[in-house]
Amino acid sequence: MNDAGERLDHFMARANAAYYAGCDPFADFITSPEISQMFGELLGAWVAVVWGQLGRPDPFMLVEAGPGRGTLMADALRLVRRVAPACHRAARLHLIETSPRLRGVQARALQGATAVPACWHDSLATVPDGPMVLLANEFLDALPVRQFIRRAGGWDEHFVRHGAFRRVPASFPPDHPARTRPVPEGGVLETCQPALEFTQALAVRLRRWPGAALLVDYGYDAPAWGDSLQALRNGHPADPLCDPGMADLTAHVDFRSIADAACTVDVWGSVPQGRFLSALGLAARCAQLERAAPKQAGEIRAAAARLAAPERMGQFFRVLGLSAGVTGDLPGFAGRRTDDATANRET
Ligand code: SAH
Repeated sequence: MNDAGERLDHFMARANAAYYAGCDPFADFITSPEISQMFGELLGAWVAVVWGQLGRPDPFMLVEAGPGRGTLMADALRLVRRVAPACHRAARLHLIETSPRLRGVQARALQGATAVPACWHDSLATVPDGPMVLLANEFLDALPVRQFIRRAGGWDEHFVRHGAFRRVPASFPPDHPARTRPVPEGGVLETCQPALEFTQALAVRLRRWPGAALLVDYGYDAPAWGDSLQALRNGHPADPLCDPGMADLTAHVDFRSIADAACTVDVWGSVPQGRFLSALGLAARCAQLERAAPKQAGEIRAAAARLAAPERMGQFFRVLGLSAGVTGDLPGFAGRRTDDATANRET
C-alpha cells in the first residue's frame, strides 16, 4: 500500500483469498445448488445433452470453476450416471479452485463420483487438452473489480485506505468493452479484468477443442453502470472495506462485457435463470421429487420457486452460454446471441 492506499481490485483479491481460505462461505450466503438438488441435476442433464451434441467425445474434460462445497457437481454427476452412463464414464473431472480448504471439502463431496478421480487447478490454463464442458455458478462475482468514477474530462479510480474510499485520477482501460458506455458525472463504472480474461481464455480454448461453457451469476446484461460492491458477513450486509477477509466480497457480473469478450465463439443468452431452468424441465423434476417424497412436497415446491420465481433468484440471476463445435442449439436458451438479439438481453 502506498500513500494513495490500495487499488480496489487488489484489496478485493486479498480479502477474498483470505476469506475463502479461512471462513465457511456457506455460513454467510446460500447458493442455488445448496438450495436444492434440482439445480445441479438440471445442469447435469444439460451436460449430458451437450456431450451428445459434441459427438459423444471420450474422454472429455468436465470442468467446474469455483465449485464451493462440490454440491452442484455431485448432484450433476449422480444424474448423468443414471441417464447417460457413457457420458459419465467419459467424464474427466477438473476443478478450478484456489482455496486449499475448499479443495478438501470438494474432495470429500466428490469421492467416487467419477470413474477417474478429480484433479484440481488454480486456473483454466492447466486443464488438459481436449473437448470440454464447463460449469460455473457464482464464480465470476467473486473476482476482483475496479471502480472508475466519471468526472469532467476523465476518470478517477477508487483506492482503499484506512477502511474508506479515496479517489485517485486514472485512465479507463482503453480496450475494455464498456469503455464507450455513457456514465454521468459522479457515476461509477466497474470493470472486472479477471472475469474478462477467464472468458477470453475459455473462448481461445473452445476454438481449439470443441466444447461449451455455462456461466451462471447475478448481474446485468444492459449497458449499465453503478457501484455494486457488496459484503456479506454472518448472513448480513456488511461494510465491504472493513475487516478484509472476514466477509464475502462480490460485485454484480457485467454479462454484456463478458459476452463481448467471448465473441469469437458462439454466445447464447444471457437469459434469466428462471427461464433457463424452466426450459431444462424444472417443473417436471419438481413433480417427480414431490411424488417420491410426498411429505416434503411443500419444501420441494418452495425450493423450485426460490430458484426460478422472478422476484426471488429467477430474474436477477442470469445464464450465459458459450460454445464451439456443438451441433444444433445449446439447450436452455432462446437462441444464439447476435448484436440485435434484444429479446435475450432484457435486464
Ligand atoms: N459454485 C459454488 C460456490 C460459489 S462461491 C456454489 O454455487 O455453491 C465461489 C467459489 O469460487 C468458491 O469455491 C471460491 O473458493 C472460488 N473462487 C473464488 N475466487 C477464485 C479464483 N480467483 N480462482 C478460483 N476459484 C475461486
